[in-house]
Amino acid sequence: MTTQETPKDVIDPPLETIRFHGLKAGPKLLVLGAVHGNETCGPNAIARVIEDCRAGRVSIRRGEVTFLPVANPKAHRQNTREGDRNLNRDLRERPQPVDNEDRIGNRLSAILRQHDMLLDVHSFTQEGVPFVFFGPEDNRGDLEPFRHAAAEAAFAAALGVDLMIHGWLDIYVRLIAAREQLKLPRLAVTEGFGTTEFMRFAGGYGVTLECGRHDDPASVDVGYRAIRNVLAHVGLTDESLPAPAKRLVVHMDDLVICENEGDRLEGAGWRTGDRVAKGTPIARRADGRVVTMPRDGFIIFPNPNAKPGEGVCYLGVESERRP
Ligand SMILES: [Zn+2]
Repeated sequence: MTTQETPKDVIDPPLETIRFHGLKAGPKLLVLGAVHGNETCGPNAIARVIEDCRAGRVSIRRGEVTFLPVANPKAHRQNTREGDRNLNRDLRERPQPVDNEDRIGNRLSAILRQHDMLLDVHSFTQEGVPFVFFGPEDNRGDLEPFRHAAAEAAFAAALGVDLMIHGWLDIYVRLIAAREQLKLPRLAVTEGFGTTEFMRFAGGYGVTLECGRHDDPASVDVGYRAIRNVLAHVGLTDESLPAPAKRLVVHMDDLVICENEGDRLEGAGWRTGDRVAKGTPIARRADGRVVTMPRDGFIIFPNPNAKPGEGVCYLGVESERRP
């Protein structure tokens, strides 16, 4: 960037997609990276697959795959998670966009609508194993009606990561209720809608892959493998898939909310997917009370920096669902 460039040029970089069209009919897959700008794992993994496609090491035989390596260019250039706000919240079309993520959201919604399925590649800050987030069971409810649960779960299981989690929007509704009890500003349910929720709303399906730590080269390998696996799984390539492995499926169905400044995790080093026995201390309130694990289960998204109204951690149990 030269000093002559106006701030405007920096604020509104365009979105760049790279698309490969197979010469036979097939489904349309979208692969996203850097929805959170500092998560470089997605763009790096996607770049490797694009190079493979261009060099003929990967052959897209049917359908289409669209790569959007950097979904939030402003945040990516800044190396921050967000531009003006979290792109993966309250994602929808807006006739009157007011910030960077609103403007991207309008374009991204249109791109999502052009596809049948979505792989959204993320990474995280703390230590932990890779995992995939997938959606609800088939239902005709008001929160997130859906009819591709089996296909979506199979898609998630094909990525090659051993931990699968579901239950996001239901728990978000519980977070809203818990915040209300604390007399905090009410959140709208649409706040819980990100890329995969919009994809389901638009008639398709999609999953969020968390590859590992942002700066761990192994995260890029996880993302790269997952993209290759899913290209084969949906039939865009004729590559053989790894043998199906048993996955741990966790239903996230509870949370410990931060009630006051100073509420914090008890003990160091919790990681998403850690198995925790009933009665184990997991959090400590600011006044010293200890919160224990209500039953045998799993810790999800431990947040050492939780503020009042945010989750200190989420909790889950082994799911009945079998992809
Ligand atoms: Zn992310």
